Amino acid sequence: MSRVFNFSPGPSVLPEWVLEKAAGELLEFCDTGQSVMEMSHRSVEYKNIIKDCEKLLRKIMSIPDNYKVLFLQGGASSQFAMVPLNLMNNSGKADYVITGQWAKKAYSEGAKFGKANAVASSADKVFNYIPKLDPAVFDKDADYFHICLNNTIYGTKFDKLPDTGKVPLVTDASSCILSEPIDVSKFGIIYAGAQKNMGPAGLTVVIIREDLIGNAREETPTMFDYKTHADNGSMYNTPPTYSIYICKLVLEWIENRVGGLEKLAELNRKKAGMFYEYLDNSSVFKATVENPHRSIMNIPFVTGDEILDKRFVTSAAKNGFVNLEGHRSVGGMRASIYNAMPLEGVKKLIEFMERFEKEV
Ligand SMILES: *Cc1c(COP(=O)(O)O)cnc(C)c1O
Repeated sequence: MSRVFNFSPGPSVLPEWVLEKAAGELLEFCDTGQSVMEMSHRSVEYKNIIKDCEKLLRKIMSIPDNYKVLFLQGGASSQFAMVPLNLMNNSGKADYVITGQWAKKAYSEGAKFGKANAVASSADKVFNYIPKLDPAVFDKDADYFHICLNNTIYGTKFDKLPDTGKVPLVTDASSCILSEPIDVSKFGIIYAGAQKNMGPAGLTVVIIREDLIGNAREETPTMFDYKTHADNGSMYNTPPTYSIYICKLVLEWIENRVGGLEKLAELNRKKAGMFYEYLDNSSVFKATVENPHRSIMNIPFVTGDEILDKRFVTSAAKNGFVNLEGHRSVGGMRASIYNAMPLEGVKKLIEFMERFEKEV
């Protein structure tokens, strides 16, 4: 067996400890005679898994007691609709910051249900920065204010949060959740598809302040109402049981192997810092995002020559560094260095790039 260094933006690399633990329990989980995949979600054993998963997430992220944690399906993309369906029910207005494709998709979905207002955009420079926000243009009556905390495709992240006053701040944190500590109490809703930093695809985690639950628009389908899932402990219907189990293992890895979120953040900053430093000093490669908006999870870079970019991606893959091509909409390269990418992977990639530089 030989495992590659996988820089995929998602689904993405998982900690080897997690995969090995899951492999060891694949046929039989804890004297139950069955795999977690085969288990009733109503069984005592499974209830302990989902309970422990929530408990660990609450501990690691210091989630306050007045927030619910929901384990849903449908991806972050479903949240683009679920947020307005549940929140856009007072003034019928919401503010959005357009920092990339995901933010734009969230905005378009919001616009289907009410008055979605784009308060700022960085579309003029291919989203390679976070626009300056002027609180004077924020709508004080908005039902919520939406941002995409880390822009997976363009490699930008908010270096500080907008002050939205009483308007609940809602964020798509798919590609940065669990990468460093965040103050959950600053948000009304944090949602994330699991397949970047939390586990396999199929699970969507929603962390929601309790007072935002129970005011869904009348036409809201039962499955799209946060209240349905909050009232039923994410068991209204069958939850993505195996993905939740893997997520629990990922959280155990963070807590027990890495030593918590502060430690993990330190490691993530070190990995990203090394890579940016290399790019800033390279004569061939160049980062496309400037400080202070640089993501520590997704790092896009270019050579300035499309043919050379392609040659690099192909050559890297042959050498065991895979999924380095940029998003199909922007080209170039992108290294996604999520939590599970070891420091060694980044070091080896830099070494490979140094060798590549000498050859061109
Ligand atoms: C990957 C990603 C999405 C899409 O997630 P799905 O789970 O595929 O719907 C949305 N937003 C961000 C920021 C992402 O990185």
